[in-house]
Amino acid sequence: MNRVAVLGATGSIGGNTLDVIARHPQRFRASVLTAHRQVEALVALCVQHRPELAVIADPALEGELARRLHATGASCEVASGAAAVTEAAAGTLCDTVVAAIVGAAGLESTLAAARAGKRLLLANKESIVMAGPLLLQAVAAGGGALIPVDSEHNAIFQCLPGGRPDLAHSGVRRLLLTASGGPFRGRSRAQLADITPDQACKHPNWVMGRKISVDSATLMNKGLEVIEAHHLFGAAADAIEVLVHPQSLVHSMVEYVDGSVLAQLGNPDMRTAIACALAWPDRLEAGVAPLDLAACAALQFEAPDLATFRCLALAFQALRAGGDAPALLNAANEVAVEAFLAGALPFLSIADVVEAVLAELPTQAVVDVQTLVERDGMAREAARRVLRNAC
Ligand code: NAD
Ligand code: MG
Repeated sequence: MNRVAVLGATGSIGGNTLDVIARHPQRFRASVLTAHRQVEALVALCVQHRPELAVIADPALEGELARRLHATGASCEVASGAAAVTEAAAGTLCDTVVAAIVGAAGLESTLAAARAGKRLLLANKESIVMAGPLLLQAVAAGGGALIPVDSEHNAIFQCLPGGRPDLAHSGVRRLLLTASGGPFRGRSRAQLADITPDQACKHPNWVMGRKISVDSATLMNKGLEVIEAHHLFGAAADAIEVLVHPQSLVHSMVEYVDGSVLAQLGNPDMRTAIACALAWPDRLEAGVAPLDLAACAALQFEAPDLATFRCLALAFQALRAGGDAPALLNAANEVAVEAFLAGALPFLSIADVVEAVLAELPTQAVVDVQTLVERDGMAREAARRVLRNAC
């Protein structure tokens, strides 16, 4: 029995993961579930999946969680606080950790799972964007495995021989990362001036949490994924190309030096990547509808519009700058997206905030997690200052 900790169980990836796990009760058990503040949703998941431990990240809600769980007759242990989430990720109750917390808040628990040698299923892309080399070192030191859940990276993983994350010896020329283009593909800057949070969160192909939905609309999501691919597969910035593919059926491709291009296709349903990562190198039924290519619209591919969707260009800039620039980019983006979702920042200004923070803070080498977290804090402060001055 493989015992799985689902960090961020109440989210979109968390829900899809629990759906796949529930289809294979002989093989997997959701042993640890965590959430930020959604007590009611977490209790419902505990009743359904009967974990051994439930953790609520906000300590003020532990009493309420314990009371409500008790009322349902569920007998799992209860803990609270960010440190408890991290301890659970490294603890003895799980073999596999699904890192599905959103944002930099997932960094410590992701690193802890890696250090503890867990099989780490990585959805929390912000942690690898921030701390790529540190996370990879932690995986190597812990002796576990890192399997990408982000659909593009999972696709590339599947298109590399034996999932081998070593481009130098695989004859790989380029990674072709596909992007849906988001809800505003083809629009001009003028047409994006008055975009509301609800419009930005209405993705044409995927149902996701609000932060990643906004990132998909600005193309920052693809920018974070370029950095994620750089770390996961050791690809230089020039060896990663972004291709807009509005149908979201080709999840990414790998081009080899002999001219072969391998692609992974499937319906846009995260359960495919999650099931692949859970079972690899086996395959699991995931509840995903078969892909009916004859019934699909034509597959289109086009170059991204970097002048309109500047966040993607800024992410390439941060990757080329190296050091902790990607962490600064990520922190500034998290603050800007939060402000946009709160109605306090126009859609197009998200890129302005990120650009201003990158210009203000010169890049430094990534030395350790503590320094990285401090630099993340500095970038957040700088972003808030830019926000105050803009309003
Ligand atoms: P979501 O907003 O739906 O869920 C986020 C989860 O994290 C929730 O369970 C929430 O309670 C928890 N959380 C939030 N803040 C927290 C905090 N401070 N401390 C502890 N827990 C906290 O997000 P999502 O769409 O499921 O995305 C999760 C991660 O997976 C993100 O990094 C995202 O980029 C990545 N991802 C998502 C998708 C997708 O299809 N949704 C695809 C690829 C990658
Ligand atoms: Mg993705």
